[in-house]
This record gives sequence, structure tokens and C-alpha cells, in this order.
Amino acid sequence: MKVLKERILKDGKCYPGGILKVDKFINHQMDPNLMKDIAVEFIRRFASSKVNKIITIEASGIAPAIMMGFLMNLPVVFAKKKKPSTLDNMLTTKVTSFTKQRDYDVIISKDYLTPDDHVIFVDDFLANGNAAKGIIDLCRQAGATIEGMGFIIEKAFQDGGQYLRDNGIKVESLAIIESLDNCEIKLKEA
Ligand code: 5GP
Repeated sequence: MKVLKERILKDGKCYPGGILKVDKFINHQMDPNLMKDIAVEFIRRFASSKVNKIITIEASGIAPAIMMGFLMNLPVVFAKKKKPSTLDNMLTTKVTSFTKQRDYDVIISKDYLTPDDHVIFVDDFLANGNAAKGIIDLCRQAGATIEGMGFIIEKAFQDGGQYLRDNGIKVESLAIIESLDNCEIKLKEA
């Protein structure tokens, strides 16, 4: 996605440890026009999938997910990272955070993820695929079907993408980073 790639090169910042900071336009300050373009592109790429719900994990996936849900007229569910005291009847799994280097519980209500659901999972980044694996586990517990997974940015030098594709998941990444070595952003050509 050309406009996204140009923006990453213009406003993305590289940090040691293979971390790309995009908080000027994706996950702190957000550019709603770019987010709309991202959602339109996801919708185009998943056009052949029969979907009734968009699913994500708080917090950074919520913006692209809600844009998609709005444009597709579908409900959006975000998995929560903290158990609300008012939530019972829930499914839970453990996810290792790549950026924070710790495990956390991810929770979703059984009311909002059911065997009737055919979902697309969207998130800002795909790195080692731990968040995606957590969603796979929650969908397995719920009996829901994953129709595909969309990531704004995939870091191809980490193994999440390979894992998901090897496991038969349709993965769509709008920008693929080949390397952040020497703090230089190298994007995969389209
Ligand atoms: P994964 O679960 O695939 O290992 O990592 C994905 C999650 O970690 C994303 O939800 C994202 O929030 C965070 N993440 C992974 N890599 C990066 C990165 O390079 N930059 C930022 N800002 N977040 C990242």
C-alpha cells in the first residue's frame, strides 16, 4: 500500500531491538484519513471472505478495526487485556507482549465470540505472532472461525507471518518491513 509505505519512511522511527515507532500516525497520534485508507484496503483484500465480525486486541488494533466495522457495517470486538470486574462468562488466554516482554491475560466475553462467528482479526503490527496466536486460541475456545488476519505492518524478520501462513491462515499485511538493521527501514517491494 503505497501511501502507507511512504508514510512509514517519512514518519516511522527505528529503535534498537527491531522496534519501529509509528506513534506519529498509527498508535498514539492517529491519522484518520490514513486509517480509513487502511480499512478500505483490508476490505478490498478480504472481499472474498464471508465475515460477520471484526476482532482485535486493545489498544492499537481498535482504530483500524472500528474503521473496517464502520465501512462494512459489522460489529467490532476487542479482546481486553484486563479482566473487568463486571465481566463473567468469558474466554481467556495468555499472550506474551513483544514490546513489554511480559505475559498478560487476554479476555473476551463468550457473548461476543460464538460458534456462529466468522471473523477477521486486525492489528497494527505482526511480529512474533503472539497476539495472533492468542486470538486463534480464543476463537478455538469459542468455536468461531477465523477467515483471515490483517496487519498494518508486518515485520518479516520475525517469524509470526511464517507461522500463521504455515497454519493455513490468510494473512494480509499492508506494509512489510524486511529489516530494521542499523536503524534503517527497509520495506519489501510490492
Ligand atoms: P506479536 O504479538 O506479533 O509478537 O507482536 C505484535 C504486537 O506487539 C502488536 O500488537 C504491537 O502492539 C506490538 N509490536 C510488535 N512489534 C512492534 C514494533 O516494532 N513497534 C510497535 N510500536 N509495536 C510493536
